[in-house]
Amino acid sequence: MQLARRVEALPPYLFAEISKKIAARRAEGHDIVTFAIGDPDIPTPKHIMDALHRAADDPANHRYPESEGLPELRQSISDWYERRFEVKFDPNRETLPLIGSKEGIGHIALCFIDPGDIAIVPDPGYPVYEIGTMFAGGTSYKVPCTRDGGWKPDFDAIPADVAEKAKLIWLNYPNNPTGAVADFDFFERAVAWAKKYDVAIMHDNPYCDVAYDGYKPLSIFQVPGARDVAVEFNSWSKIYNMTGWRIGMVVGNGDMVDALMRVKSNIDSGIPQAVQRMAIEAVYGPQDCVDEHNRIYQRRRDRMVEVLRKIGLEVDTPKASLYVWAKLPDGITSADYAARLIEDCSVVVTPGRGYGEQGEGYIRLSVTTPDDRMEEGLKRLEAWKGL
Ligand SMILES: *Cc1c(COP(=O)(O)O)cnc(C)c1O
Repeated sequence: MQLARRVEALPPYLFAEISKKIAARRAEGHDIVTFAIGDPDIPTPKHIMDALHRAADDPANHRYPESEGLPELRQSISDWYERRFEVKFDPNRETLPLIGSKEGIGHIALCFIDPGDIAIVPDPGYPVYEIGTMFAGGTSYKVPCTRDGGWKPDFDAIPADVAEKAKLIWLNYPNNPTGAVADFDFFERAVAWAKKYDVAIMHDNPYCDVAYDGYKPLSIFQVPGARDVAVEFNSWSKIYNMTGWRIGMVVGNGDMVDALMRVKSNIDSGIPQAVQRMAIEAVYGPQDCVDEHNRIYQRRRDRMVEVLRKIGLEVDTPKASLYVWAKLPDGITSADYAARLIEDCSVVVTPGRGYGEQGEGYIRLSVTTPDDRMEEGLKRLEAWKGL
């Protein structure tokens, strides 16, 4: 058997070492607390589950769905964007449901990238941007994002020859893994730069309603003219605690949305229809759950930031996202620090290096650990007092 180069080229599983350490600690009988996974611990709200139960019993939902989703689902996406951001999308041309946004994020490179083409991806960033590019035969130009730059790319620092050759650029604010957010000016500069170099913007926005202290994240489509050059990926995974159901979407430039639709219709047959009914209920049903969840995450965030500072880490309190991004003392790698936390405290965090070179020297902790487990983990860190 000979596997394709694209499979051989996949990076080694970053957490392999860590997984081994966790397994070893568990085998010794230690109780492990993990802050490594960005997956809401709170169940999907009841009214959304009720919609699933009703839809599951309807035989109309037992058959193949359409790739492009139910018209009511596309309408609900369009209505949600209008309600939340006061931007309108034609449900039939400018919205497309995805089987979780990760699916579309992985596949959209096939719409833009031919072998040898360049995609600009943020470093640190969500790994799927780079892998999708690689699967399409393209090369990723990593644009460094640093704490000094607010974890945002400096468009003027992207070499002109790269910008001219690039087919697309990935942006993601509120950001995973750094928790950084972007203001209107930033998105305006992004759109102007993309127009100048004819580069398509892929904005990934799954945390647009996971925010704290009254902060309201933006959509790139609040910038006039963004629709000429951009699409935005979104998802009900984090906003409505629906990671397990796989409901995502892309909105924006009609030609780009149509290209992804044409690719996808040759790969999948859409989202199970009963799950589409859940997504529709999420949009039109009561919205109190969103603030309720954010209040829980905000309380956890505050406690986590307090403890991380106590053990000597530098933390900028995140205004949004599910993550606290902490700067380690000099002289230890993020992988070694994470390994020490497992060995000394049986606490699991994500080494920043897993998100790119610029993530070295940082760790990411998620606030999606249940309260009692979170407190247990944080108490152990407090007792440990840091390196
Ligand atoms: C969670 C996440 C997604 C994917 O969410 P889906 O569950 O696939 O909709 C996409 N991008 C980023 C940056 C994420 O953190």
